[in-house]
Amino acid sequence: MRQLIAGNWKMNGFSSESASLAETIANAADEVGCDLLVCPPFTQLAAVVAALRGSKVAVGGQNCHAAANGAHTGDISAEMLGDVGCTAVILGHSERRHSHHETDAMVHAKVLAATRVGLMPVVCVGESESERDAGHHLQVVGSQIAASLPKGFAGAIAYEPIWAIGTGRTPTAANVEAMHRYIREALVTRLGASGAAVRILYGGSVKPDNAAKLLAVPEVGGALVGGASLVARDFLAIARSSVSLA
Ligand code: PEP
Repeated sequence: MRQLIAGNWKMNGFSSESASLAETIANAADEVGCDLLVCPPFTQLAAVVAALRGSKVAVGGQNCHAAANGAHTGDISAEMLGDVGCTAVILGHSERRHSHHETDAMVHAKVLAATRVGLMPVVCVGESESERDAGHHLQVVGSQIAASLPKGFAGAIAYEPIWAIGTGRTPTAANVEAMHRYIREALVTRLGASGAAVRILYGGSVKPDNAAKLLAVPEVGGALVGGASLVARDFLAIARSSVSLA
């Protein structure tokens, strides 16, 4: 299996520059040796989908509502993401858990919505700095997995320690390995044999200069990249650091 390198563009860019970023990424997609996903803001999805038509780069949303439609001002449903051409959606990112008070139960409902329309959910989990300092990181992530993933989950997990997001700090390779092994065990316990095939991405300050080290860690199935995904050269350098999975 190939690793998945996913770009979370967050609330950045405008349609024309994002389309050109997407085109540059698409032009290199055949030679990077991994699967690629970009997740632009909602307003840029149509332009990015059009720019990537016929390419191997997938497009995803950064969030969706659990309902298919209705009185939810300002929200976007999984059905709408599918309608615009998305094949994936990031769910439960720590910025949404923090700023929009998203709970595991809400993430669980959103995963069901994504699954209902055939989008690949990329479910984010991760501990705060104080939770790690207190030695509770495994327990925190274990309970996020247990409460966020429905039975039969088929998507990807992104382990993103909150203290590593946008800070330039990363856990050691040994810490990443310990957490990814723990998540793998939790997935297999919960999902049976199919839990062994779920890609577990690492996210948090992945850059061209640390990507090779992080992507070589056992049980790392790829990366969820924030800041560095906004620069085609950096995103592609990270993608070129990917390795083949057993
Ligand atoms: C993220 O927010 O998903 C992320 C990993 O951000 P960054 O790479 O900028 O730390």
